[in-house]
Amino acid sequence: MKVIDHISKAKKILFSFEILPPLKGKNIKYIFDTLNPLMEFNPPFIDVTYHREEFIYVEKGNGLLQRKKISRRPGTVGICAAIMNKYKVDAVPHLICGGFNKYMTENALIDLNFLGIDNLLVLRGDPLKYEDKFFAKKNGHKYALDLVKQVNNINLGKYLDKNFINYDEKNNPIFDFCIGVAGYPEKHLESPNIESDLFFLKKKVEAGADYIVTQMFFDNKKYFTFVNRCRLEGISVPIIPGIKPISSKQQLTTLPSKFYLSIPNELVKEVEKTNNKKNIFHIGIEWAIHQSQELKKSGVKIIHYYTMDKPENIYKIVQSIF
Ligand code: FAD
Repeated sequence: MKVIDHISKAKKILFSFEILPPLKGKNIKYIFDTLNPLMEFNPPFIDVTYHREEFIYVEKGNGLLQRKKISRRPGTVGICAAIMNKYKVDAVPHLICGGFNKYMTENALIDLNFLGIDNLLVLRGDPLKYEDKFFAKKNGHKYALDLVKQVNNINLGKYLDKNFINYDEKNNPIFDFCIGVAGYPEKHLESPNIESDLFFLKKKVEAGADYIVTQMFFDNKKYFTFVNRCRLEGISVPIIPGIKPISSKQQLTTLPSKFYLSIPNELVKEVEKTNNKKNIFHIGIEWAIHQSQELKKSGVKIIHYYTMDKPENIYKIVQSIF
């Protein structure tokens, strides 16, 4: 079932979450061990992130460095198939522009359709570690907007590869992907201002996005203001709030620098009072519970959690909210 149908048919507030494919070397048992505790809360869908290849530099004996391409977290599509097979729950693979040309994307969409996957979160992807900005692959997409257009086209039966395909554009629309996109309550880090970011967010919706999932935020006011601004701009699709509990002191600096977001002083002060990891974990959980309670009270239909490989804290939050 499509994400937007889950939302529109929900009789009570829904809980969804995102997992990362494990680092290479772990097997499917690791995924199921992560998921099993959370399944008792009946998530209607589970997102699986996509991680493109990275480059590392390896020291050669002669003092030279060799650039090597590595893939740390492969397996997004396989994990989605395994989730759907084992739990009979919809899986939402993240589909990115980075590392793909349009033809690779077309083939990936065909594979996803064969697997019975009809939900996607469509993203641009981040720049590679050693690059100061995002570079699209040759014949690839520069922005998520262009990828949304490609998915929407294939939903209409419009393939890139017209020569070999025997299809009827009008009468045989074979794909029906439900398209989610990212939204940033505190603006995307590269965007010159929130107005510009909202302008392009609206373009993604006009191009076929069915719903928006927000970047994490720690102050609900940011989310409520963002939703109001979207509505004023005429963006009427569901906007799913994304929540992540703080789980270490280091995140007070890493999250703002990586995701361009602010952390309320009250939360910073609480975390800074202690060096005990367990206490910090607990503070993060309590803050996320408070945020979730307020969001629930405000009438949101669904809350999405970033597990970041740590299901224990999400379990505690969800247990007290859903
Ligand atoms: P876009 O919508 O393309 O926007 C990127 C920037 O370009 C923005 O500043 C926007 O304002 C601007 N812009 C957009 N269109 C245009 C245009 N036509 N002309 C000029 N400027 C434009 N990354 C991964 O690699 N894998 C994942 O699995 C993943 N999952 C994510 C899940 C969520 C919920 C979120 C919020 C982010 C996720 N990301 C993931 C990170 C995401 O890829 C980065 O935030 C990336 O930098 C931007 O992606 P986007 O889809 O928002 O890009």
